[in-house]
Amino acid sequence: MPLARTRSVIVIGVAGQLVEVEADISPGLPAMAIVGLADTAVAEARDRARAAVVNSGEDWPNRRITVGLSPASLHKHGSALDLAIAIAVLGAAGKIPIDALADLVVVGELGLDGRVRPVRGALAMALAARDVGCAIVVPASNYQEAALVPDLVVHAVANLAGLVGLLRGEILTGAPDTTPTLTPSEAGSVPDLSDVRGQVAARFGLELAAAGGHHISMLGPPGIGKTLLAERLPGILPALSGEAAVEVTAVHSIAGRLAEGQGLISRAPFIAPHHTASVAAVVGGGSGLPKLGLVSLAHHGVLFLDEAPEFAQSVLDALRLPLESGEIVVSRSGFNVRLPARFQLVLAANPCPCGLAGSMVAICQCSSLQRRRYLARLSGPLLDRIDVRLQLAAPTLAELRGIEGTVESSSVVAARVALARHRSERRLQGLPWRTNAEVPTTELRKRWPLPADVVASAEEAFETGHGSARGLDRVVRLAWTVADLAGHQSPTALDVETALLQRTGRGRWAA
Ligand SMILES: [Zn+2]
Repeated sequence: MPLARTRSVIVIGVAGQLVEVEADISPGLPAMAIVGLADTAVAEARDRARAAVVNSGEDWPNRRITVGLSPASLHKHGSALDLAIAIAVLGAAGKIPIDALADLVVVGELGLDGRVRPVRGALAMALAARDVGCAIVVPASNYQEAALVPDLVVHAVANLAGLVGLLRGEILTGAPDTTPTLTPSEAGSVPDLSDVRGQVAARFGLELAAAGGHHISMLGPPGIGKTLLAERLPGILPALSGEAAVEVTAVHSIAGRLAEGQGLISRAPFIAPHHTASVAAVVGGGSGLPKLGLVSLAHHGVLFLDEAPEFAQSVLDALRLPLESGEIVVSRSGFNVRLPARFQLVLAANPCPCGLAGSMVAICQCSSLQRRRYLARLSGPLLDRIDVRLQLAAPTLAELRGIEGTVESSSVVAARVALARHRSERRLQGLPWRTNAEVPTTELRKRWPLPADVVASAEEAFETGHGSARGLDRVVRLAWTVADLAGHQSPTALDVETALLQRTGRGRWAA
């Protein structure tokens, strides 16, 4: 009996890994063995494949079947190999031409009735197929996703019979009559800045954060609009570019967060973990197969920690590495799995444990020690990375009465942010940083030194206050973003002062 060979893909971390699927049929008692480090779900493919083949009107070879999965050292998991296993068996049984299986990568979970069910991570799988120059067969409901990959032939099948027909040359193509599109709901559902009344200073802080990619913190009593503002950051950030959009879509697909038929994600994701979330949930990893954490779902987007001091210290500490490197590295015997996690951090906190400090309507009972301790949970290396620190106060009556039409919408702000980004990108062209926030302060001083009179006021403020030289550098970095927004060639003295004002929260936070 001949040996049939095809290929499939499993996803490790965020990357598709090709798996060779071989089927061999030999004389002997009817049995089927799957060899090559398969988990339970893969082992159960045996039963699913058999039922699906029979229910698709094909004969199941009643002999000894061995299915080999290689590379043997790679742990195979999940049900996406089902379809490839069924096809390899049919190939070995002579039911479909073996040649048709060459240069083909097949993914899909099989239902007992022969239906092909969608898989997670179809985009990452499609990228892996493209990289080896193969065409890919995907479940029909994953077609839109796989078809996002350029230079790749995608066949979509709804059931096993459809794929068998395709491989026998009976059906010309399984591609449904649709083209990849953006999901309309995605563009429409982003909340708009025009909903936020007052908070003029905080709105500017948010704009600065968007323009320079700076991490941002917001301190203020509950109900003042911190969450409202944070949720509106993605709406003023630039749309995701080609490569970033593909990365984000791939990650969300692997996490099973992509709606059926959803196309490319082009808006920066907004991820807001609850303060009871575990380290494993937030940063991912864990034992066994590396799992994606919320920081990876926030890749190229916003991670919002509301009531940040309430998060477990271990969670806050675990954020330091991705903030530094933009990724989570999970070590497994023999290899490292890299999970992307380059996000913009937004921290929000009440001024004290009861949240009433600064409130006009009730009196805070917390002692000054309690207040200091509360915010001290956030001090140190984490807070050190935050360039924009806002203190929000209750809006004044005049602000609340704000005349209709005077509140800017997200699109107006986004246009200014886009212009500012354009200016900084031109300055950073050919350098490894994309936003002002990414530029190390040492490089900033070396490459773009500012005249003494421009930074004089900031220097003075830091000398008379309790600021550090590093704090001053960060003010200068933020001043570049102020200048980019204002259209200045380089920061003016006023730009530096404006940047300094954005760090007035410092004294309270540093406690
Ligand atoms: Zn209090």
